[in-house]
Amino acid sequence: MNTTFSCVGCGKCCNDHHVPLTLAETRMWAADGGQVIVLVEGFLGNGLGLPVQQREHAERRSVVVRSGGTEAYVAITFAAYNAGPCRNLDEDNLCRIYERRPLVCRIYPMEINPHIPLNTAVKECPPEAWEKGPDLIVGGQLVDQGLVDLIQRSRQADRDEIQTKDAICALLGIRTTALKGDGFTAYLPDMAAFASVIDQVAGKTLDDWGSEWTFHVSGDDIAGQVLEAGAQVATDEPLNYAFISLRAA
Ligand code: SF4
Ligand code: SF4
Repeated sequence: MNTTFSCVGCGKCCNDHHVPLTLAETRMWAADGGQVIVLVEGFLGNGLGLPVQQREHAERRSVVVRSGGTEAYVAITFAAYNAGPCRNLDEDNLCRIYERRPLVCRIYPMEINPHIPLNTAVKECPPEAWEKGPDLIVGGQLVDQGLVDLIQRSRQADRDEIQTKDAICALLGIRTTALKGDGFTAYLPDMAAFASVIDQVAGKTLDDWGSEWTFHVSGDDIAGQVLEAGAQVATDEPLNYAFISLRAA
């Protein structure tokens, strides 16, 4: 079935959505005085935490790190912290930085992850947005080549920038990840420190930041599996992060 779409400008996607940012967008967000949230998830070299069909995509956007005596893959997202309305949303639900809004704002409601098909039921857009307008998807393919290019750019930035994000995290003391599928670790770094660290890593060789990662998991059963794989599990209460569990209650 084909999907039509026309944004009705309701502004819902600009509320309570942390917007993933490229590094250049992160710099812009920080320079504008915005807060960035750092979201981290990882999986182990033996595949623990990784849905098999997602391996290629997940590996390409991850950095290979050490955890305990084993290898792990860590994916780091820098996102605009939007609790409530985005700081750029005006009273008429218009974007104040429309011309330079982040890539992901241009891509919504489409997905970046190739393994997540568009599900209109879980999107913020009201029913009328899907009832009329130009074709969005025909025969399973996105119609708008411009949108296809934006999604590719976003995926490419994820791959190209992961090493730099790892270095930034190392300098900020961000070294605890969640296990993919089990949750995320979420950090709200001091933005003055964040901006200065971004400048510090610019143009540096980033192949060895040395410090290893630890896994924060939702329960003893998962901790057992992570330890058995040879990786390190956090045992102390989180000092500088929150754990967002994805485990069913
Ligand atoms: S930057 Fe603009 S388009 Fe993006 S979430 Fe904020 S208000 Fe919406
Ligand atoms: S939620 Fe959908 S319809 Fe509403 S502003 Fe965002 S993209 Fe447009």
